[in-house]
Order: sequence, then C-alpha cells, then structure tokens
Amino acid sequence: MNERPRDFIRKIIDADIASGRHAEIVTRFPPEPNGYLHIGHAKSICLNFGIAAEYGEKGKNTRCHLRFDDTNPTKEEQEYIDAIKEDVRWLGFDWGEHLYHASDYFEKLYGFAVELIEKGLAYVCELSAEEIRAYRGTLTEPGRESPWRDRPVEENLDLFRRMRAGEFPEGAKVLRAKIDMASGNLNLRDPVIYRIMHASHPRTGDQWCIYPMYDFTHPISDALEGITHSLCTLEFEDHRPLYDWVLEHVSVPCRPRQIEFARLNLSHTVVSKRKLLKLVENGVVSGWDDPRMPTLSGMRRRGYTPAAIRDFCERIGVAKKDSTVDVELLEHCLRDDLNENAPRRMAVLDPLKVVITNYPEDQEEELIAANHPKRPEMGERKVPFCREIYIERADFMEEPVKKFKRLAPGREVRLRYAYFITCDEVVKDESGEIVELRCSYAPETRGGNAPDGRKVKGTIHWVSARHAIRAEVRLYDRLFNRPDPEAEGDFLACVNPDSLEVKAEARLEPSLAAARPGENCQFERNGYFCLDSRDSTPERPVFNRTVTLRDTWGKKAG
Ligand code: ATP
Ligand code: MG
Repeated sequence: MNERPRDFIRKIIDADIASGRHAEIVTRFPPEPNGYLHIGHAKSICLNFGIAAEYGEKGKNTRCHLRFDDTNPTKEEQEYIDAIKEDVRWLGFDWGEHLYHASDYFEKLYGFAVELIEKGLAYVCELSAEEIRAYRGTLTEPGRESPWRDRPVEENLDLFRRMRAGEFPEGAKVLRAKIDMASGNLNLRDPVIYRIMHASHPRTGDQWCIYPMYDFTHPISDALEGITHSLCTLEFEDHRPLYDWVLEHVSVPCRPRQIEFARLNLSHTVVSKRKLLKLVENGVVSGWDDPRMPTLSGMRRRGYTPAAIRDFCERIGVAKKDSTVDVELLEHCLRDDLNENAPRRMAVLDPLKVVITNYPEDQEEELIAANHPKRPEMGERKVPFCREIYIERADFMEEPVKKFKRLAPGREVRLRYAYFITCDEVVKDESGEIVELRCSYAPETRGGNAPDGRKVKGTIHWVSARHAIRAEVRLYDRLFNRPDPEAEGDFLACVNPDSLEVKAEARLEPSLAAARPGENCQFERNGYFCLDSRDSTPERPVFNRTVTLRDTWGKKAG
C-alpha cells in the first residue's frame, strides 16, 4: 500500500508520535443526531476513522470513537441516531466497542460545572437571551458585565442546583462561564454553558431539565474519552480558546488537542443538515434518502459505492483553507469504481419494437454475453433472443443525419452479442409515430461477426420482447441548477425542476430479475444503475441511474 500524503494533520500526529507525547492515538467522529449524514460528514469520518486505521496498521495503539453529541433534545431523534450508525458502517468503518453519547456524561458534566462555580469561574445569570446578546458587545466594542456576575459562590451553587431540580421556567436562568467580557474573542465573553430546557431526551428521558452547551460538553467529552486529536471544521477555530479554557479549569484526566480543517463544500450541492431538512420539509425531495440528496443514505440508494466515496475523500485531502470541490470529481471517482467493477447488462429505456421477419415465430435461443468486456473472470451470462425484440428509440432514425451510425431504413447494424439486422420497413400509426420496425437478420452472423468479414458501423443494445422485464427507470440530474446554491440567499430558488425523469416503460434483460438493492450494474450505453431499495416491488422493479457513462452535464451547461 502506498504511503498516504502527509497532510498537516498527519504531520502533527507524526510529530506527536516521534516526540513520544502520546502512547496511543485516539480520534472521534462526533455527529449531532439532528439529521442524516451527508457527503461532508464522509470527509470527517474518513479522516477520523482513517487516521486510526492507518496508524493502527503501523503498529500504533489507536482507536476512533463514534460519539453522539446529543445535548439538544428538541432537535434530536432516535431515527437519526440509527441512520448515522448505519451510514458509518456502510462507509466501511467500525467503532468497535467505542460508541458513546454526550448524554452519558450529563452527571459528570454537571459535576464539572459545579467545580467551575466553586472556583468562582461560573455564575447563574438572569439576563434574557436578548439581553445577553446585547451585553455581549461586538468585534469592535467590548461587552458589558452581567449584573449577576459577582454573585457569591454559595448562591450560584444553590441556584444551579435548583435549576436542575426544575424550579425555574425555560429562559429564566442560565449558567455562564466567567471569563472576560472584554476579550477580543466573542466566544470568551462569559459564554452560556448550561440552559434550562423542559424537554424529554431520547436517552435520558425526563431526568434532566438543564442541558449543557456544545462548547462546554465537547472538550470535556473528548477528555473523558482520552481523545488525543480532536479534529473539527474551521468554524470552530474561534472556539478553540474556549475549548482550552474549559479543559484548563476542570479536573479532567487529559488534555486533547483541537485541530481544525476545511469543511467540504461541493458544487451544485448543499451540505448543511439544516438546508437538507428544508428540502425534505418542503417536499422538494421524497425524503432524506431521496437518491438526489447528498446524504449518505440518498447516495447509497442511488448506487454510490462506499469505495468511491472513500476514494473521493482521499483525493480531496485535508487542508486548512476553505474551498469548493467540483461535484464532477465525486462522479469521476464513482465512474472509476463502477467501470472497473459493475457487471454489464442490457436494458432499453425508450423501447421501440423490432420484428425480425425471417426469424421463425416459434424459435428462441440463448446468446452468450460477457459480464465485463475487460474482466473475463467476471464470467458470462445467457440472454434470450427471439423474433421480437426492443431497441432504443434513439437508435433508429428514419432519415439519418450525417454522423448517425445506428439503424436506419436499408441499413445493417449489429445487435450486441447477437446478429446483424437490416431495417426493411417502418410501420407507423395514424398520427405518424413509428410503432414498429420490420427487419431481417443474417443467421450466419450469430455472436456478432460476419464470416465474410463485412463490417457494420453501429452496434446497438436490445432485449427480447418475449422475455423482457418491465420496469420503471429513474434518471437523475443535478438537484440545483447553479454551481453555488449555498451562496444564494434562497437556495430553494435554484432547485432544478428537471432533476428527475421517469422512464415508465423500460424493458430489461431477464437476468435483472435477480438484482438486489445496492448491487451496481451498467446498462450498456445508458449508464450505471441499481435497484431502488424503497419503491421496487417484485411486480414492478424500479431502477435508479447512479451516474451516466460520460459527463454530459459539463457540455450542456457550458
Ligand atoms: P451541518 O452543517 O450539516 O449541520 P454539523 O457540523 O452541524 O453539520 P455535526 O453533526 O455537528 O454536523 O458534524 C459532525 C462532524 O462532522 C463535525 O466534526 C463536523 O465538523 C463534521 N462536518 C460536518 N460537515 C462537514 C463538512 N461539510 N465537511 C467536513 N466535515 C464536516
Ligand atoms: Mg454541529
């Protein structure tokens, strides 16, 4: 295996190992269970679990924790917790025994808050939320001290205990760290560390009515778990002084180090749970796992492979500066994987019937088709052939334009893996629409080659009309028709109205009856597809197009 490039985080860890600073390397992925994971989270998962795995392979003692940052019971749900676990596993990572919840630490966190109060470093404040904001000042103006800032320790202890006991309504009181209202860093201007919420928690039920804030919970959770390197996105850079302040003033067993890296932004995509939730709530998509969503569950349903996503995360690397990655790189990684690994099948999305007039009505046969043109080890399959077949409507032109190489009146083409056929007659209905082609086949070309060496310009795919499976096929396009929907004031305004096209009359080769969700295949010439895990029934299979064979979007838009 190639040595991974040493990004700035790996260099820090290398140095920490060289200096003997840590006996083990411990990372964590800390999602808040308030939505489904998206491709941005995949970057963080691959980084955190990837680092543990890599240094582990080099013989170091390592682990990566999965920790739910479940401190806001009003936004968090069990459904999200379950989905997150499934997604992390699907991506190929394993937290082993190291599954944690910030809520496991509620009692300890309470104890640390009491410790701060006892040290004169926290106080119960009765300003309203708006007042706290107003007192906070701005980047250019220092904040003002709360009138409750110098309450005696005993009074603070008593009030905090009564906050816990449920004596006060929401918003009546908060616990604040006593740091510095004149600090240049707004996060240090006496941040709120506990608030009252009379809300039931998915794990602790009604046991608590005060909940700790993220900036207090996170460093302590890291320390309690022995995290050595706490990797997070750049927006937390300004929170690091607070992270360090908390660890310095409470009696935790160790001092994790927070390191920030640039979050992933993707073109034509939004990666924010809040915005993704809006898409769901407004019915723009059918749910969190809609195949157009950049969620891991949507991508899985669409046919993305974990290997492709891991490859993508590796290629984008980690840096200290924010940037936007072109979604085409993600699609490129996907195509790379599918081109190599997806078996080939035949399916006709817009069927046009072809009757092979010189093929006997009662005859049928099986032809041999390779599952992968470059990988003989993937084997072969049999595809049935008979007098009536379907071809793609777009593979016939009554009056062919110059570069059109496929079927046309009087022209001979190859049916993939089968025979040469020549179009003799075009049958139309009253409206003038073509309803059928009448063709003749050359029996000596079985398998797709003529013994006399004659060539044809075009090869087209087909399925046997008698044996084909009827299916619905869903073709997806970008969900947003602008590269930077995140930058838009109203990202919903740039939703692409044509992001889903349904082919309701598709016909598939019979081997696809055995398809299962999550199994990728290429429909020859049409792209990569997989069975939809949600809407398919045995009577009516539904297939999703994972990605096209080649990129047509760039050309269309350019
Ligand atoms: P969102 O902005 O979508 O709401 P979040 O940061 O609030 O995401 P968390 O559940 O707190 O979501 O994220 C868990 C971890 O994933 C955090 O460490 C966070 O930094 C990381 N993360 C979230 N979004 C991205 C992203 N786009 N790129 C890289 N890492 C991300
Ligand atoms: Mg967050």
